Amino acid sequence: MSSQNRRPLRTFLLLAPVAPLAFAGVLVWQAADGDDSGAGGREPGRAPSASSSPSRPADADPTQRKDPEVGEKPLAGKVIVLDPGHNPHNRDHVAEISRKVDIGTFRKQCDTTGTATNGGYAEADFTLDVARRTRALLRAQGAEVRLTHDGSRAYGPCIDERAEAGNRAGADAVVSIHADGGGPGARGFHVILPGRVSEGKADTAAIVKPSRKLGEELKAHFAKRTGSKPSNYVGNGTGFTVRTDLGGLNLSTVPKVFIECGNMRDAKDADRLTDAAWRQRAAHGITNGIGAFLAG
Ligand code: ZN
Repeated sequence: MSSQNRRPLRTFLLLAPVAPLAFAGVLVWQAADGDDSGAGGREPGRAPSASSSPSRPADADPTQRKDPEVGEKPLAGKVIVLDPGHNPHNRDHVAEISRKVDIGTFRKQCDTTGTATNGGYAEADFTLDVARRTRALLRAQGAEVRLTHDGSRAYGPCIDERAEAGNRAGADAVVSIHADGGGPGARGFHVILPGRVSEGKADTAAIVKPSRKLGEELKAHFAKRTGSKPSNYVGNGTGFTVRTDLGGLNLSTVPKVFIECGNMRDAKDADRLTDAAWRQRAAHGITNGIGAFLAG
């Protein structure tokens, strides 16, 4: 949204060389794939699988659940936290977001810049846009919705604060919204589920099972609404990965998943991610996935 969307890619490319903490800047940039931004880019050179024809219809929606009619408030009384991954201003605060925070299993940097399309559309702008669209749809169904940030902060929040936001709200569901930074040909979306962790401040025992249910509904409805398919480069075609290295999941005490909506570095996926109409469909998919989970 706004002029930030058109900020040229060179802003990012210049970040590492000119930042006072140049080395940290490089780390931040590289971490966009594997930090709390998700799993993309681990195998950037890997060709897509043969079953990944873009013309194939989206996965059938196994729930067959109808969207709520206008005026219905099926989510009244529910509290939902949406976590727009990264922050458009993180790029200007490399030192601050590089400080380490405790995620239970180890110490990890506060936040990352996130990735961007080759045309310069930042992941942080994408995630904020989709989160705002999703918030509007959820509120229309009666839910109380909070965002972990709404673009007004100088940077962050840090990944431990993002988890704490859901915990403090006593959220019925939390979804962290991201887009990935894999190689060309790596396509599709995937949902990241919390793995079993019990160490330090991290204890996911109570959320592993409900988070999987949330993830399954999210996957089904996201595919149905967007026409996108499960990732051809992560999760062996299942659309799921389980991770124990994400602070946003490790520290959550309420059901929570991440969704990587597509690969910003693939031209075809980028066409979707930069299309406002597609982002609205993505918001519908996320909304319906959350709604199905809460109705379950
Ligand atoms: Zn991300």
